[in-house]
Amino acid sequence: MPEICDTPHNYPFSFWVLRKTRPVPHISSLQLMRCFPYPQAFGLGVLALALGGCATRSVGTDVPSTPVNYYVRVERAKPDRFEVSVALDHVRRDSIDYVLPAWLPGRFEPFEPAPIEGFGARDGHGEPVTARQIDVNRWRLYPDGEKYLTIGYHVKNSENEVPLALGPRVDRRSGYALGASLFGFVDGHERRPVTISFELPTGWELQTALTPTSESRYEAPSFGALPGTVFALGDRLLDYKLFVEGRPHRVVVHGVGRNFAPDSLLTLVEEAIQHGTRFFGAPPYERYVFVFHFVDPGTEGIGATGQAAGSVYYLPIMDTQHMRRAGLGKLLLHHYLHAWYPGQFGPRDVAQPDFSAPPDVTEQWLIEGAAEYYARLLPARYAGGPDGFYAAMGELLTWWRELGGGRRIDVTTLRASGSDDDSAARMIVGGALAAFVVDIAIRGDTHGLRGLDNLLYYLQQEGQDGGYAEDEVWPEAAEALGVGVDALSPMVAGSRLSIRAGLARAGLQIVESPERRKTLGARLLVDPVGRFVVRDVEPGGTAASAGLQDGDLLLKINRTPVGPDETVATRYALTNYIRDAKPGAKVRFEILREGEPLEKSGSVRQSSVPRVRLEEISQPSATALIVRRSLFRPPSPSSGR
Ligand SMILES: [Zn+2]
Repeated sequence: MPEICDTPHNYPFSFWVLRKTRPVPHISSLQLMRCFPYPQAFGLGVLALALGGCATRSVGTDVPSTPVNYYVRVERAKPDRFEVSVALDHVRRDSIDYVLPAWLPGRFEPFEPAPIEGFGARDGHGEPVTARQIDVNRWRLYPDGEKYLTIGYHVKNSENEVPLALGPRVDRRSGYALGASLFGFVDGHERRPVTISFELPTGWELQTALTPTSESRYEAPSFGALPGTVFALGDRLLDYKLFVEGRPHRVVVHGVGRNFAPDSLLTLVEEAIQHGTRFFGAPPYERYVFVFHFVDPGTEGIGATGQAAGSVYYLPIMDTQHMRRAGLGKLLLHHYLHAWYPGQFGPRDVAQPDFSAPPDVTEQWLIEGAAEYYARLLPARYAGGPDGFYAAMGELLTWWRELGGGRRIDVTTLRASGSDDDSAARMIVGGALAAFVVDIAIRGDTHGLRGLDNLLYYLQQEGQDGGYAEDEVWPEAAEALGVGVDALSPMVAGSRLSIRAGLARAGLQIVESPERRKTLGARLLVDPVGRFVVRDVEPGGTAASAGLQDGDLLLKINRTPVGPDETVATRYALTNYIRDAKPGAKVRFEILREGEPLEKSGSVRQSSVPRVRLEEISQPSATALIVRRSLFRPPSPSSGR
């Protein structure tokens, strides 16, 4: 616990000082104390600073070794905000910027900062320091050469448009935040070590993957560890410990009753950890936190995010027995793989991030697509066998078609942001199919000895000291893997990949056959601003029964928001309300027709739909057979790992 500082000043509020826990050579602990009041204007009434003149060595040439101290407080009386303060020494600048992260590793769209209020700063004498907000995520401070600086602000619960997994949220019972929404960095000081101390309401606990140094205090080597860190807090958290692959994992569950039976969920979590570690090797983290929030299916912003040492899932409440069937295992594995990827395998802009702007990374599709591809391949390779993989890839091919994807994939169009016709779903689904084709191409060129696995291992090696250079790495990678540059052509030349021709090299084919199924009875295309457009309404189908027409924008099914960016929610809605519903069950659509919001009701009908499957060719060439079989074999240690 932080100690109360014995101060000669008589401040009318409690006054915390955080003592440095590591002894500093040559300096007695007494000298570490330096107290000054935290500006009350911030509503914090606390101060987090115990720096003193104790910098004795440097991390870099001019980076002080003393930590930047962060302090977070949650009060029951103000249950909609995190109160944050930041204290550091060795400022000594006339002006300096405080910057909130503009992006999050593994997410390439700009990160929308949560609402910040009451921003202010003080110097070492407790005098106010002028602060001006100069951008949505940047404040300029004028400490006028002073050595000490404290900054304080409130982070309010995020707005409803922000996906739930990204925005901070706290109420009287529990809270959740990603570090990116709480913590900024002082420009030029982002490589200093950091400490974070929490003051939470009585009885609350905190789960996070940061290294604890004492009760409610944590440390990290630098600011870079903070944006992707998951913080789950609350009164009587429902959490479970899993010690897997030599590391402690915590699974925190919100939104279920005390009688929640965690077995199915924990089994899926454990499988994800095992698949990930069998593939990539020892976990790259000391500890890891999974946070599951089960929410009403009508909630907006359902989805997940996976970071280096934690992942967060906002999911519709589901029967625990149906979690596997609903595809939760694949979702979990995708996000869990982000513990390695992109952090450990990423290009330089991702591995050495400048958090003040999103990175300009061309190979987003490779980062996201590989995670999605291996989320399907690894369970087949280590547990289920080829059939499950073919079924899962058939589902992806169907999904790709529903997203308006063609027979060829141009990976340069698979980006999460920017041009008009993208979306995160297209990037992930198209990226996974492209990863599959590249995997087969590498296996084809090496007679099954190497695959995409080895390309990833190569990138990991190349990028060990801070990521690889996207524009240089591919010719060398092709040579190291012993493949023609053609195998890596999507990266090198941005050429369009033929899905069918690619799969044929592994003796696989796409088979479409009509099938009577309960379906929407219409196609969903993606419009330029990323919404679903209804097309090809089939007479007698579910959509037709509700009077949906070509060109309608489909917003919700039974109150569940659907859209290309709402992958999980969409799948949930299409599965639960249509595919798994009884024939004739009522279904309600919310649409926009020529700009006008309308509600339409219909009933679930069967349609004859083309079912896309992945099948083995019965008489493959010898090479194709070798390539196909190699997909399900882990790479041998001598094959370039
Ligand atoms: Zn991802």
